Amino acid sequence: MQFSGFRILKEGLAGNRGWKPHWRKPDPKPDYDMLIIGGGGHGLATAYYLAKNHGLTNIAVLEKGYLGGGNIGRNTTIVRANYFLPGNSEFYSHSLKLWEGLEDELNYNVMHSQRGLINLFHSDGQRDAFARRGNAMLAQGDDAILLDREGVRAILPYLDFEQARFPIYGGLYHKRGGTARHDAVAWGYARGADQRGVDLIENCEVTGISVESGRVTGVSTTRGEIRARKVGIVTAGRTSQVAAMAGLRLPIESHILQAFVTEGLKPCIDHVISFGMGHFYISQSDKGGLVFGGDLDFYPSYAARGNLPGVEQVMEAGMALMPMIGRAKVLRSWGGIMDMTPDGSPIIDRTPIEGLYLDAGWCYGGFKAVPASGWCMAHLMATDQPHPVARRYRLDRFATGHLLDEEGKGSQHNLH
Ligand SMILES: Cc1cc2nc3c(=O)[nH]c(=O)nc-3n(C[C@H](O)[C@H](O)[C@H](O)COP(=O)(O)OP(=O)(O)OC[C@H]3O[C@@H](n4cnc5c(N)ncnc54)[C@H](O)[C@@H]3O)c2cc1C
Repeated sequence: MQFSGFRILKEGLAGNRGWKPHWRKPDPKPDYDMLIIGGGGHGLATAYYLAKNHGLTNIAVLEKGYLGGGNIGRNTTIVRANYFLPGNSEFYSHSLKLWEGLEDELNYNVMHSQRGLINLFHSDGQRDAFARRGNAMLAQGDDAILLDREGVRAILPYLDFEQARFPIYGGLYHKRGGTARHDAVAWGYARGADQRGVDLIENCEVTGISVESGRVTGVSTTRGEIRARKVGIVTAGRTSQVAAMAGLRLPIESHILQAFVTEGLKPCIDHVISFGMGHFYISQSDKGGLVFGGDLDFYPSYAARGNLPGVEQVMEAGMALMPMIGRAKVLRSWGGIMDMTPDGSPIIDRTPIEGLYLDAGWCYGGFKAVPASGWCMAHLMATDQPHPVARRYRLDRFATGHLLDEEGKGSQHNLH
């Protein structure tokens, strides 16, 4: 089923009775070439690109809940390519290019909106850091403009420029940054994978990983045993638990990150803004709600909900940046389980077990990575070679010291 303006018109006139479900609900087969554990953004994108780029379709995605119920449907939807370090810079640049063609690629409206991202800075030192970051972005072929205070004021006049606790010195403007509708990304990739023959199996929790003579042979699930030659672990915050089923101990901690949405307001914030003196970022959804978040809740947990000190920190930062936000009512908040690596960068690699692959460690920033992560994980699983833009995402870098030191955060800072 192709989506188009004409189709919407036709269905509208015919009472919307012709729409079909986006994907089938197959029972699991006993045997597949490849299994992807985890039906979040990364797992679904991996399955899609395995089918699309490599012609591999005897694949199942095994999801313990429903598709899109994990972090892919819980994030604050920010998409950007403003990374500083070689290794991350080229990967996120590749991802943003994929985002820019994603709606045509999937024939699906993921509401990708390049409304521009502005990272504010509040000291001379921060200005230097953002100037360097902007230069790295330009060197990578992406866009960046260093704004002074008046430049920011011209674009974001509603910020507190007069009596701010942390005066605004300027901002790094990334015009191609923006947002997308998070669950639509999961649905779009799911539909695309299903159309190419991938089985998407919901309510199917993986409870064990079978390994014989150092080689993966399949998995145990709540819907029976399934054999496969290759298995990918793409389970975000649950990665450590799933990897432990194969006897692996990973350099990943699980932490909670919360998000907040206000009541619907008339359009007032038409960019994504990130505050430099407290961890706080905000945008306005197309429905009108202000969508914002802050830092992790600093204790490891598998509970997909946050705690009050985290709420207080986010609200304080919001008020310090834009006091007007205090007049909006928060309607909803929720948490997601982050898979944090010690250096804050991800892993897309083989594991010591033959046929078992890992795509994890996305920390608080894996939404924007979904297209490139799926692309690179599919490449790895199909060819057994790392994709060039993900070649530094090695699992052994924590043993060899080749870290990609973005910003590893966790409850035990002395270990990072
Ligand atoms: C509040 C919040 C805000 C965020 N904001 C941003 C942002 O603005 N920009 C950005 O780039 N990133 C953001 N992120 C991070 C981003 O959402 C995640 O890094 C990314 O979604 C993780 O990958 P995923 O989509 O595959 O995860 P998930 O959607 O969590 O997918 C993993 C899936 O694995 C399944 N699973 C787990 N265990 C098993 C098992 N045993 N068997 C079968 N299935 C299993 C889970 O049910 C889940 O569906 C945010 C995250 C949160 C929580």
